[in-house]
Parts: sequence; structure tokens; C-alpha cells
Amino acid sequence: MSKKYDEKWGPHSHCLVCGNAIPDGEKMCSEECKAKFDLDQKKYKRNQKLSYIFIGLTGAVIIILFAASYFFK
Ligand SMILES: [Zn+2]
Repeated sequence: MSKKYDEKWGPHSHCLVCGNAIPDGEKMCSEECKAKFDLDQKKYKRNQKLSYIFIGLTGAVIIILFAASYFFK
């Protein structure tokens, strides 16, 4: 299916933000989409950082609880 699609339209990409067809090798169709993409990337990175902190804290709590149950039997 994707082969037929390529034959019809030629090699091309889609805007990562709005999905518009754009020349092959491009990532975004406009400055507006680029700005939006950058903002989303920043949000994503911040969320990723927060989830790492959360995982770290959860791990620390588990280790502390485990150590506490070991030492205070
Ligand atoms: Zn776009």
C-alpha cells in the first residue's frame, strides 16, 4: 500500500505537527509548526525529567522501606 502511495505522490514527508504533505527531508511545513514542535519538545523533556525524578523517589522509598524492615526486625 505504501508503495502505491509513493508512486502517486512521489517521495515526501509529513509535517510532524499538523501532518501536511511537505518535501522529502523536511520536518515541518511552517515556522508556526516549528515553534509549536519546539514547545512540545520542551514540554516532553520536562515531563520526562519529572517522571525520572518520580521513579528515583519511588525507588529510594522502596529501598528505605526494605532497609528499615531489615534493620528493625
Ligand atoms: Zn505543519
